[in-house]
Amino acid sequence: MKNKISKSEVQKEIKNFFENIKDKTPKDIKKIKRLAMSKNIPLKEKRKLFCKKCYAVYRNPKIRIKNKIKSVECEKCGNISRWKL
Ligand SMILES: [Zn+2]
Repeated sequence: MKNKISKSEVQKEIKNFFENIKDKTPKDIKKIKRLAMSKNIPLKEKRKLFCKKCYAVYRNPKIRIKNKIKSVECEKCGNISRWKL
């Protein structure tokens, strides 16, 4: 992989990537995450779109909300991510 692209180019790439997140594979997610990290670009809200364990895109996850904590269970590996609301 060429490492000569600028930060703004990477930001654009990440934005495009997440616009079409539903078509992405865990391999793609790993790649874009690594790319973002290499440029110190935080993914913020976008991190909630995929499982942080197996990197599968959430399609039909089990979502529970309790005590202002939202839990999302990955339908692929069963890992539960929790987010404060
Ligand atoms: Zn998972």
